[in-house]
Amino acid sequence: MIYPPQSRAEQRELRRKAGFTSRVSIPNENALRVCSIPGCGKPPQARAGRGLSLTHCRLHIQRRNRHGSFWKGTLSAAALKPYRHAAESYLKANLSDFWVSHALLAIQGLLEGAGPVERVVDLKRMKPDRKARAAFARMRRAGVPPLRLLVDHLAITGAVQEDPIRPGGEPGFYLQTQLGKAALRKASGYHSVYGPDSRYDVYPRSAGQFLRIIGRKLDKACEHVAHRHLEAVLALKAKRVRGANNGVI
Ligand SMILES: [Zn+2]
Repeated sequence: MIYPPQSRAEQRELRRKAGFTSRVSIPNENALRVCSIPGCGKPPQARAGRGLSLTHCRLHIQRRNRHGSFWKGTLSAAALKPYRHAAESYLKANLSDFWVSHALLAIQGLLEGAGPVERVVDLKRMKPDRKARAAFARMRRAGVPPLRLLVDHLAITGAVQEDPIRPGGEPGFYLQTQLGKAALRKASGYHSVYGPDSRYDVYPRSAGQFLRIIGRKLDKACEHVAHRHLEAVLALKAKRVRGANNGVI
């Protein structure tokens, strides 16, 4: 097959990628001997010649990319349920609150300002920021109501705050990843139905920097609501859990 001649910019990019690949594939003796997660024992990425990290193995780097923490997984739907229910009831009773309506408008702005819905085949090559905007565009197309995203924000912020196992790492890293993942689940896939027995579904990978960008944008839109109302939502959740344990619903 004959390929069209590459532009200088494309040639530069190809050289940069080739240089990067050869750099990270040479084992680095300056890296730690074993991954810094207790009990892991595997060599860090750089020592194994399979990546950049001088301190963590490939498995733990992947885990952090996917979940936002070297050791914690993603919050389960069951763990979030009581927080979601409390957040939803609380917000529905306080829709006219200044900060709640302000956050709903800010989320609406994120959805409306997200630009076009991109083709799934283009997502892999996109920079994280554009990939994050594409995710908001898909949510807009799917008609995801801003209130659902605000409920998620309060529920996830509350669950992370009350979790006795801390996620470690940079402050906000786990929370932002979890917010991004939950938002992505709202409208993650591309679906084409060709007939009663024929359809095509594609889901972008739920890992990487773009999740944190989605999470950061949502956190910025909703932070005042969390600051002013999270305590009341957590109190409502605790009251309901106590009521359910005593057999009173
Ligand atoms: Zn490890």
